[in-house]
Amino acid sequence: MYLEHLVYSLAISLIIGMFYQKYTGRDPTWIIIIGTIFPDVDYILWRADYYFFGNPTLITHGTFHTFVAVVIASMVAGYIFMKKIHLPFKHTSGLFAIGMMAHFAEDSLVYNPAYAFFAPFNNERMGFGLLWEAGDLFHMAGTEVLIPGLCFVSIAAIIRASYDENWSFMDGIYLKGARFKYYIQVLLNMNVSMDEDE
Ligand SMILES: [Zn+2]
Repeated sequence: MYLEHLVYSLAISLIIGMFYQKYTGRDPTWIIIIGTIFPDVDYILWRADYYFFGNPTLITHGTFHTFVAVVIASMVAGYIFMKKIHLPFKHTSGLFAIGMMAHFAEDSLVYNPAYAFFAPFNNERMGFGLLWEAGDLFHMAGTEVLIPGLCFVSIAAIIRASYDENWSFMDGIYLKGARFKYYIQVLLNMNVSMDEDE
């Protein structure tokens, strides 16, 4: 279960973005998508830690799957996004936290047990395991989980398109993609340094 997070959280961001846009005229819900990718970075860090230093590893797959990680990561990410896109800290950190917690919910939906979300206070691994997954798509996704997720995206897109006649799913995807690319560039200061050169 890796790719499905993008799909399920896209559905969530479409709906939350609908309300956010109604009240503020902006849609920064791509932060939810970044927040949803973040927890599985612990897998990459864990493998790298093991590769270079062997056991015992400082980090494992699950270290970022805790509410303590949500608090720390959303404060840091919220601060960075607040500075970069000039939205209130409670919005940027809140959207990032929603993305991370959506990831936890999605993991619990598929795995039983999933992760010890309340570690270090309670090290019991929790999860519901409601959807069975074979992980048959290159071990990156399972069709059993991916297909309901795509249905959720379709439903969310229909709701949003019927609510806001100026909104279309493809425009939304394109805009999200373009914004995502833009903000990655802003974060890396690529556009800033290019302006200064000229
Ligand atoms: Zn995960």
